[in-house]
Amino acid sequence: RDLVSPEPEGDERLIEAALRPKRLDEFIGQGRVREQLSLVLESALRRSRPPDHVLMSGGPGLGKTTLSMIIAAELGAPLRMTSGPALERAGDLAAILSTLSEGEVLFVDEIHRMARPAEEMLYLAMEDFRVDIVVGKGPGATSIPLDIAPFTLVGATTRAGLLPAPLRDRFGFTAHMDFYEVDELERVLDRSARLLSVELPPEGAHEIARRSRGTPRIANRLLRRVRDFAEVRAEGVITRDVAAAALNLYEVDAEGLDRLDRAVLDALLRKFGGGPVGLSTLAVAVGEEPETVEVVAEPFLVRQGLLARTPRGRVATASAWMHLGLTPPPDAFG
Ligand code: ADP
Repeated sequence: RDLVSPEPEGDERLIEAALRPKRLDEFIGQGRVREQLSLVLESALRRSRPPDHVLMSGGPGLGKTTLSMIIAAELGAPLRMTSGPALERAGDLAAILSTLSEGEVLFVDEIHRMARPAEEMLYLAMEDFRVDIVVGKGPGATSIPLDIAPFTLVGATTRAGLLPAPLRDRFGFTAHMDFYEVDELERVLDRSARLLSVELPPEGAHEIARRSRGTPRIANRLLRRVRDFAEVRAEGVITRDVAAAALNLYEVDAEGLDRLDRAVLDALLRKFGGGPVGLSTLAVAVGEEPETVEVVAEPFLVRQGLLARTPRGRVATASAWMHLGLTPPPDAFG
């Protein structure tokens, strides 16, 4: 999508890899998760046993992949990476599980999108470090149990609610990743600016941080766009005004709302009088998948106090009307 799309785009994966913190003490923010995780890892190291399986839930770009790499690094263990959609058949998963080495960390991104047969194989693997390989078809089929090396599963999901309970219950530890505070994003930006050799005064960092939708991936991306702008138009100096002008140019508004956020709000207010309106109706009105609206736009709008999810549907708050400069209908708020 566009500038504030939470997914990595194009050659961004390479830049992201370069900006990734490598150890837990370089990882900024998420204080509680960091502390809990460091205990889990430390005690595993002391017992010389792989730690419990870890589930990380939270929106895109909040650091789930980064943390999984850190877990492997802190354990001094190899890391294997795959994703739910890549595990279409049980055989896809069996091929990975049966070749894991002792203590290896297996990262499964978007674990809620794994196919059912693979999911069932994973239950047994997580619990008993065993898989049942089914040989043959129909009444003559037999299953051959196969021991696998003790490993640690690190699952990541943007939608923890979609995980079946038996899978969720097999994780010993769940890390809930939340949006970052502005001062935490300032530190992310400061670190990235140093790695990219960009001069970033605190006032510029602040302006970018507060428009980054609470998301490190977006902060890093906006930093690169603002740097380009500053080099061409402002002799490379990222003052507050330069940052603001650059971000306005890229249609990121003063609260960090992007085009999709504003389209959702705009539809909610203009087409549905502020709601309540159902998620799928709202998604059709902005031409997006309901999942995109629900996972990408809504959590941030809710956090900014612009939208509320109610049992009857999505509802705009008074701030939403103000944000778009519109007047609510007289009966809007009781
Ligand atoms: P996710 O897997 O949740 O989508 P990633 O782990 O890929 O997110 O993070 C996206 C980018 O944001 C990475 O390039 C990483 O450098 C940066 N990032 C994420 N979390 C942090 C953090 N806590 N401190 C510093 N940089 C971070």
